[in-house]
Amino acid sequence: MKAYDVVIIGAGLAGLQCARVLGRQGLGVLLVDRNFPGKSIHTTGIFVRRTLEDFDIPADCLGPPLRHVTLYSPARRSLELRSPHDEFRIGRMGRLYTDHCRCAGVDWMPETRYAGHSLLKDQLVIRLDSRCSARWVKTRYLVGADGSNSRVARQLQLESNREWIVGVEDVLANVPLEGPPRLHCFLDPEIAPGYLAWIAHDGEEAHIGVGGYPGMFDPTQALEKFRAGLGEIIDLRHAKQIERRGGRIPVGGVLRNIASRHGLLVGDAAGAVSPLTAGGLDPAMRLSTLAAKVVADFLDSQNPQVLGSYSGELFRARFTSRLWMRRIVATARQPALMELACASLRLPILNQFAWHVFFGRGSFPDVNLEPPHQVAVGAD
Ligand SMILES: Cc1cc2nc3c(=O)[nH]c(=O)nc-3n(C[C@H](O)[C@H](O)[C@H](O)COP(=O)(O)OP(=O)(O)OC[C@H]3O[C@@H](n4cnc5c(N)ncnc54)[C@H](O)[C@@H]3O)c2cc1C
Repeated sequence: MKAYDVVIIGAGLAGLQCARVLGRQGLGVLLVDRNFPGKSIHTTGIFVRRTLEDFDIPADCLGPPLRHVTLYSPARRSLELRSPHDEFRIGRMGRLYTDHCRCAGVDWMPETRYAGHSLLKDQLVIRLDSRCSARWVKTRYLVGADGSNSRVARQLQLESNREWIVGVEDVLANVPLEGPPRLHCFLDPEIAPGYLAWIAHDGEEAHIGVGGYPGMFDPTQALEKFRAGLGEIIDLRHAKQIERRGGRIPVGGVLRNIASRHGLLVGDAAGAVSPLTAGGLDPAMRLSTLAAKVVADFLDSQNPQVLGSYSGELFRARFTSRLWMRRIVATARQPALMELACASLRLPILNQFAWHVFFGRGSFPDVNLEPPHQVAVGAD
């Protein structure tokens, strides 16, 4: 049976980042995903400025920069927000995952599903199922980067996500761009209860999506309705659909219990998503970088106290106000109330707040990104 220092389940952004950092430290790493990289993408892929500054994401995996946001009320009254900086770039996620995977420098098993594990002395024996066979590998440590509904979390008896929204979007080509690249956000509890609907258009691709609490709306129907009502904002007459994407987004805040002697969680599996904006790419990069450092230190020292620095409890404090705001957004179900809230965003102090939500720089707590943990995501 082959043995590894670390087995990572999930080759999304979180698992890939963790694999790269651990691989560079010379550890024997196996990265496993039930899909091929770049297949079944579920994210719009909007990267914020802070991620682009701290991680060297290859330019050919990013679209043109966006500085403009238009916020719409349910009655489609608009509010313009503009930053002097390039705030967002839409990732070309298929290319990014493939590139990332090639550069990870670790053993890689696509189309292989983690089925569970057992404990043998101080090691874990992991069961991996591929289409027509099952195999077992040994590892000293397991990393769950397997998304919002993490099997690894359950098997390791760590905490699991309990609150999420669902999002669905169409990726379109041949959509003319009027004006500069722009993110349009629609606050409308009928088509996006508890979150928002969006158009992200960087001049090359247009992403049109809706998100909200499951049980309160039908995402596919809401997306059709949303698209049908966009005639005055965007010209979809010649649009060509490239993809439909969708999935769950955990919004309950980073989980408290995310590490044990045998494994830990990163990315969506750890609930590392901003509860208010539902942005998970920056937290995935930062938390995975920290996780890789903690895993390497733990394997080196065998000192369980090292794991104490990887506790969701330490990060949650930072999100208290956003968790409260999530509660407020979740209960704002009346369009008239939302209209009033949108109108109040014209007041200078609340306008400043809206500006801060979109362009502020606090997506996830800073982790130690000093060398050698700072990672150039694209170039090896
Ligand atoms: C519609 C939508 C739009 C979004 N837009 C944005 C955005 O614009 N900006 C932003 O910051 N965030 C966005 N998010 C959130 C963001 O995409 C996620 O937080 C982030 O991608 C999480 O990365 P991850 O690696 O933790 O998980 P994932 O990308 O979900 O990766 C998990 C991986 O684990 C694999 N896996 C799962 N179970 C198993 C198993 N048993 N065995 C083997 N492999 C397994 C899956 O195949 C998958 O590849 C969006 C989310 C959605 C749903």
